[in-house]
Amino acid sequence: MSDFSRRAFLAGTATATIAATASGTVSYAAASDGASAGAKGTMPGIYRQNIGEIELLSITDGANSFPRRDNFVSNRSADDVAKALQEAFLPTDQITLTFTPVVLKSSGKLIVIDTGLGEAAFKQSSGVGGQFHTNLAAAGYDAGSVDRVLITHFHADHIGGLVTADGKPAFPKSEIWVPAAEYAFWMDSGNRARASSEAMVANFERARRIFGILGDGVRKFDADTEVAPGVTSMATPGHTPGHSSFVIASGTDKLIVQGDVTTHPALFIRHPGWHGATDMDPVTAERSRRMLYDRVVAERILLQGFHFPFPALGHLTREDDGYRLAPVMWNPAP
Ligand SMILES: [Zn+2]
Repeated sequence: MSDFSRRAFLAGTATATIAATASGTVSYAAASDGASAGAKGTMPGIYRQNIGEIELLSITDGANSFPRRDNFVSNRSADDVAKALQEAFLPTDQITLTFTPVVLKSSGKLIVIDTGLGEAAFKQSSGVGGQFHTNLAAAGYDAGSVDRVLITHFHADHIGGLVTADGKPAFPKSEIWVPAAEYAFWMDSGNRARASSEAMVANFERARRIFGILGDGVRKFDADTEVAPGVTSMATPGHTPGHSSFVIASGTDKLIVQGDVTTHPALFIRHPGWHGATDMDPVTAERSRRMLYDRVVAERILLQGFHFPFPALGHLTREDDGYRLAPVMWNPAP
């Protein structure tokens, strides 16, 4: 490693102190100069591949690293979790989650699936998170040319990018389509009143603020509905009550965009029975996970995971009581 690349690497590791709460809220402490240099020292993550006639772009929104809490997995000991991280050659004291929204070009329509943390988080984290809009532009697309945004669920890293830092719609000409059950849950005053933690209250407030800005034009979809050309919704509840995945099919090619059916692959793909602290109903989440992954294995379907390592695509195989992710390898011309 040259002196230059070593310096750049060290700067990149000196990231801000960052926290992610149990229910999907992501926050960054004031970023150090190191964090800023780290974000500036990386190239935009844009990966292109075809699903039949549909063009798919994986576009990174960045990442969030935070100290591992003992309850990150609620039904296993901290030692078991440390061991699983060690087996994946990962640090045991820290969790890093990457964020990768999807862009599709299908039948002449430009479609975005999930939006990253958004512009406010981009500024707050000095560019470590919330990169999606910058990288969308780097990929050659203007947010104003997006026709439709599809949302998997209402956590900050998925809906934050729907609005700008000054509270305007970030995709001004786009239709916004969200799972009906998800919208119903987060916009319900009774559910808001029953919120038991600060983080849950923050999630309710964020959803109300964002969908307040977007207004009545937001479209709500049910499961098994064609939500865009070649894109069908699939109910995968548990992580949140109305969590949705999407099946993308063209010709003989198929891809499933899973959203947060699992967050960290080394933990919850290897051990689908482990319950993540961010899963609101962990038993239902496990059922959705096993249902989806058994199908993905049996039909050898390509899977896109919002929190998978970039380009956030891979296949699954069965292993012991769990699964193993075989990631798609980076290739500039797949
Ligand atoms: Zn997420």
